[in-house]
Amino acid sequence: MNHIVRNTVIVVLALLLQQCTYSQSSTPPKLNTMDTSKKTNNPAYSHTEKGSVNLTDEQWKKILPADVYEVARNKGTERAWTSPLENLHEVGTYYCAVCGNPLFQSDTKFESGCGWPSFYKPISKSSIIYAADNSYGMERTEVMCGRCKSHLGHVFNDGPPPTHLRYCINGVVLDFEKAKEAEKNYKADKQ
Ligand SMILES: [Zn+2]
Repeated sequence: MNHIVRNTVIVVLALLLQQCTYSQSSTPPKLNTMDTSKKTNNPAYSHTEKGSVNLTDEQWKKILPADVYEVARNKGTERAWTSPLENLHEVGTYYCAVCGNPLFQSDTKFESGCGWPSFYKPISKSSIIYAADNSYGMERTEVMCGRCKSHLGHVFNDGPPPTHLRYCINGVVLDFEKAKEAEKNYKADKQ
């Protein structure tokens, strides 16, 4: 009787071990080849979709990284001189980090000296929407993403020609893609 019990235990243990081995081999380590942290689990993110995005505040809070959420949905401001995009001079496109909407081309970016990425013209009229902002005792014009209405920054009248506008944008709500990568991804999206 005893040896039957012992044999059963051995068989069960062997089965368990086997299952263990299977479960380990069925989950290969994920390769992190590019920074997709901002887009993971974000169903709204697309560089080609044009339809407006209407998610609740609660949904955005779950989807977005905390620093992006704070600026985009709470109208926060990142600290000046903290964005790596402020000094970027690569040729490419700046997208809304919340929904992927194309916002600015690199050839409209300029050195404003204000500490935030600055542009003199958006990609198209519909890529940005505007609102009066009288907070903090100032009369400013707030700029938001034309697709998802996320807060981006403000626009001022002291920019360079030809528009004389300065779109002062929080870098944390911008995604930059070099021209060649953008073209590749655009084509992949269309397939
Ligand atoms: Zn957006």
